[in-house]
Amino acid sequence: MGYSVLFGLLGSMVIAGLAYRLRSLSLTGAVAAIGVGTSLYMSGSIAWYGTLIVFFVTSSGLSVWRKRGKQLTNMVYEKGSRRDAGQVLANGGLAALLSIGYVAVPHEGWWYAYIGVMATVTADTWATEIGSLSRLDPRSILSFKRVPRGTSGGVSILGCLAAALGATVIGVSVVVFLLIDKYIFHSNVGIVAVEWLPIDMIVIWISLLAGFLGAMTDSLLGATVQHMRRCAVCGIEVEHSRHCNAPALHLRGWSWLNNDAVNVFSSAVGAGIAVIVWVFYY
Ligand SMILES: [Zn+2]
Repeated sequence: MGYSVLFGLLGSMVIAGLAYRLRSLSLTGAVAAIGVGTSLYMSGSIAWYGTLIVFFVTSSGLSVWRKRGKQLTNMVYEKGSRRDAGQVLANGGLAALLSIGYVAVPHEGWWYAYIGVMATVTADTWATEIGSLSRLDPRSILSFKRVPRGTSGGVSILGCLAAALGATVIGVSVVVFLLIDKYIFHSNVGIVAVEWLPIDMIVIWISLLAGFLGAMTDSLLGATVQHMRRCAVCGIEVEHSRHCNAPALHLRGWSWLNNDAVNVFSSAVGAGIAVIVWVFYY
């Protein structure tokens, strides 16, 4: 236990420090990421920690990679690509809680909920990062009418494909990490499904379904009840409270439901879908 805290802390500090240097995390974001990473490491399996790293590295990598074409959306998402503590906890807080639950009351169900969460946050992040490269303006998930880029609830074919791919990558990573856990570390995380590859495929399907539907939930909430503001200076739609160095005005949605809250809710939906499919399948 003592060592696992130490290793988890050191490993997370290295990764969060790197992300801070690459400007994909703010200072508070890095501190939150160290907390999330350490608790996942302490869950005792490379499968929990490794999946988080796959999400984190691919998402940060995508955001650094497309930084050049990003100016336009940066104006809408004022916080830019630098994630603060609120964003990190919105993406990783639920995952950390699930790993703590698993340690407290070991049960396979925690694990599937975790897959649903990680698939959703990865699908959502990939859809945002890759979808913004689409040459066509996105369409509203509600009306299918074209909406300006960066509009909450706007979806594109490219974004949907990216969501499906991100969710699948999490499923494949989970299988790979579980096999490493089983055959190299000879530890068992209590996953009945992992016997050999043909059976493991169900984990990938669960991840794809949960992640895709979780990301669509995120868009649906973004198009309907998420709090959106309008910049008092330049007039564009923004998610955050300030733009152009001035407070932004209420535009639509529930004022308590910001983007971070939408992320947490969508992750919970992804977790629920993963657990339901698992319960019905086994
Ligand atoms: Zn503005």
